[in-house]
Amino acid sequence: VRLADGTLPAATAIAIALRVSQRVWIEQVEDGQGVDVRAFTVDGRSFSAAETRAAYGTAPTVGARLLAAPGRPLLTILSDSAPGHDLLYPPCCEAAYAAYTGLSDHRGCAELAVQALSGLPGHEALCEIAAWTDDVLNLWLPSAVGSDGAMRWWPARARAGDVVVLRADADVVITVSSCPDDMFGTSQWEPKPVRVSVLGDPDEPPVVTSAWPSAPPQVAMASRRLVLEVAENDLAHVDAVVRGGWLGDTRAAVLRALLLRHLETTLEPRL
Ligand SMILES: [Zn+2]
Repeated sequence: VRLADGTLPAATAIAIALRVSQRVWIEQVEDGQGVDVRAFTVDGRSFSAAETRAAYGTAPTVGARLLAAPGRPLLTILSDSAPGHDLLYPPCCEAAYAAYTGLSDHRGCAELAVQALSGLPGHEALCEIAAWTDDVLNLWLPSAVGSDGAMRWWPARARAGDVVVLRADADVVITVSSCPDDMFGTSQWEPKPVRVSVLGDPDEPPVVTSAWPSAPPQVAMASRRLVLEVAENDLAHVDAVVRGGWLGDTRAAVLRALLLRHLETTLEPRL
């Protein structure tokens, strides 16, 4: 049964204390949304992306376990309707938005997770540990390493209804964030909600979570409205990209993606 169930609005996070064998169900509500998952032992040890990819590769799927240390699993991926997750990249964070886009007040998954942990009764201290760790499982972020060692990623292509289920292998604390990235394209340039449920036996005690967020923090997103004029014969090209699906399913979504990709190639990162 679903012991807890809700929708995380775009650009928000929740922290959940899971008992051993409980499952967390994470589902796409709309298309192409990236989600960051973090996991901690109740005594404050983070899951290690390095240990986990050493054991299961860079794109874990069913059967892979998120490890805090070799032989110390926190979560197992029980089911996965759209494989293509990432253990290479860090979470998005305020510093990355500032460095790459010049925005000084854009919240990232890192800050959202820390904030959620600060509101999890009995586990508030974990937010200090989370603030110093960069280990996340980036659900639905396709990524790869080239032969020269360079890494790259593509926008999330998961579709509404795609689900990942993780089972707790111990009592663990997790955070789940619907990524606020509206600048780099990981979530097709538009943050969207995701559904999060906790599954377990009906006689178990209530699941402890941070408060379900109802709206993103004011500073989480940088959205602006733009009116674009596009020549008729350029629209044929736009429609061809729409059919490909990677940059969005509508002309507006694809045009936004092309515009932001163009800006990316003209801006110097401020590192
Ligand atoms: Zn993010």
